[in-house]
Amino acid sequence: MRRLLIAGNWKMHLDLRGAIVLAADLKRELAEVEDRDLAVFPPFPFIADVADTLNGSAIEVGAQNLHPEPQGAFTGEVSAPMLVSVGCRWVIVGHSERRDHFAEADAFLNAKLRAALAAGLKPILCVGEHLEEREAGKAEEVVRNQLEADLEGLSLEDFRRVTIAYEPVWAIGTGRTATPAQANEMHGKIRELLAARFGRPAAEQCRILYGGSVKPSNAKALLAEAEIDGALVGGASLKAPDFCQIARS
Ligand code: PEP
Repeated sequence: MRRLLIAGNWKMHLDLRGAIVLAADLKRELAEVEDRDLAVFPPFPFIADVADTLNGSAIEVGAQNLHPEPQGAFTGEVSAPMLVSVGCRWVIVGHSERRDHFAEADAFLNAKLRAALAAGLKPILCVGEHLEEREAGKAEEVVRNQLEADLEGLSLEDFRRVTIAYEPVWAIGTGRTATPAQANEMHGKIRELLAARFGRPAAEQCRILYGGSVKPSNAKALLAEAEIDGALVGGASLKAPDFCQIARS
């Protein structure tokens, strides 16, 4: 049995005060949730304070991005060891906003994944197709190419620490959600690809989250699907009542 993971990606929102208040609300409201894993991904400057606020709760903290190098002349970047030093346990790699707005290519994402794993972080690798690709019948091919390139060279041991998030780009921040059946179908295909590459037992143990306009009204139906092992939540993770409702779904 795969344990559900509900993750909140706060993107570039909030200020320090708002981030601490949100974290404190989640800590209080979700204290009784024990049958699933919970994580939040604040902007870099708030990570240490959010981690402090969540100390003593089961909610873990992650970062939305990292640079592959451990240190060096990379102005404006943040490395995996730095994230670990401020209390991060998780990191998102390859969010579509990084791929699209910052032209992050698969080879770079592969390097980020390796760096995250080397530092002991648990990466969430995001994959997903654009609307034109889905309409052209290429969704599976796009996701397969991303997975193959992003996971290239990873050992079985490394792969066992990776979580995948299927996030169809047309559903992110648009209010348009993949139907539970559409998401479940793609998750099943992803699991087959993972089984072909890393073997059936590891693929069966790998969590595949769904992301794309998850909200209280659709979370239950999505999470009820056999292949959906949790949610990566953007917009709705900024409102404590909404995220709590999703987390309890
Ligand atoms: C995301 O940022 O990963 C995401 C899925 O955003 P939203 O829930 O707002 O669509």
